[in-house]
Amino acid sequence: MQNLKLPVTISPSRSAQRRLVCEGVFKLSDMTRLLAECESRSEYVQVSVKFDVDELGLTVMSGSSSTLVALTCQRCNESFDKALEVDFTFSPAKNEEAAEKIPSYYDVVELDENGEVNLRELVEEELMLAIPLIPRHNIQDCSADADSVWGELPEELEKPNPFDLLKQLK
Ligand SMILES: [Zn+2]
Repeated sequence: MQNLKLPVTISPSRSAQRRLVCEGVFKLSDMTRLLAECESRSEYVQVSVKFDVDELGLTVMSGSSSTLVALTCQRCNESFDKALEVDFTFSPAKNEEAAEKIPSYYDVVELDENGEVNLRELVEEELMLAIPLIPRHNIQDCSADADSVWGELPEELEKPNPFDLLKQLK
């Protein structure tokens, strides 16, 4: 894909009339809120977004985005690379009243006073949501020993430890 820089703000309704498809990039270094949560491992955020009008006459912007970041593993405290990949489907609304009429299968995005949305902020927020709540390596890649895994992560405690069961049988 060519690294075409995307416009930061865009008019969804005008773009939808033209059935516009945008493929390009934002600079990851411009996404400062995202970078407060992780480290940059890529210069760019790839974005593909399509503007359309659905059968209800609503403007729809759907697409996907991806980039590469580094997170800190909560088991072993070492950083690891993680590809953040998101899909999204938004319908823009100019106010709360209009937002209520939008079916729940769309996410609502609020239009600014010029009838535009901030595409970069939208993508940034989606990528932030893709960061796991407790970042960690896949178990086979993690340098922390198994004991600390059982101890620290409550959801893992649910699984019975086969070695404990063996001990009880003896
Ligand atoms: Zn780890």
